[in-house]
Amino acid sequence: MRAWLDVHERVCRQPHGVTVADEQFGWAGANRGTETCTVAGDILLYATLAGVTGEGRFADHVERSFFNAGAACVSRDFMRHVYFQAPNRTQATGSFHAGPAGKGGIYKTKHWPLCCTAALARILPGYVQWMWMKPAAGGLAATLYAPNTLETELDGSASRPRSRSRSPCACACQNGAPTRVSP
Ligand SMILES: [Zn+2]
Repeated sequence: MRAWLDVHERVCRQPHGVTVADEQFGWAGANRGTETCTVAGDILLYATLAGVTGEGRFADHVERSFFNAGAACVSRDFMRHVYFQAPNRTQATGSFHAGPAGKGGIYKTKHWPLCCTAALARILPGYVQWMWMKPAAGGLAATLYAPNTLETELDGSASRPRSRSRSPCACACQNGAPTRVSP
């Protein structure tokens, strides 16, 4: 598994964090596409790896993918999305050969096939559900950063930790408060 992830890192990881996957696996490149389904899958895979292994690098990866590739999947009003994104798009349509082909790069209310339209709904919840974890040794682990308040129970007592961060999301809505977690 680690060898396969290392191959991804070396040859097909795009600057936004997710691999090239315009329905065809391949080397990273400015005009290569990444399907919205792959963004959702990337976040789920790496968040799961962070939980299973406890390695922070996997959680770092989830933040990179979510705040870059995740944000690029959808229009600012969250009403339209792309099927494929590419790092250096100079025109609305791309040179994608599969799925909806070149038109997969256009922000639309839905794309056929409908896989990416459905997968879009998994990106935000996929991030939120992994923001906090309970390590086997006890306590809480702040895994992924974004401003939030968690209501949970620790050792039979109610706990309500709050996280404020300088993540891209936080800067837009919190005047860039420094990263901190208060119990
Ligand atoms: Zn898809």
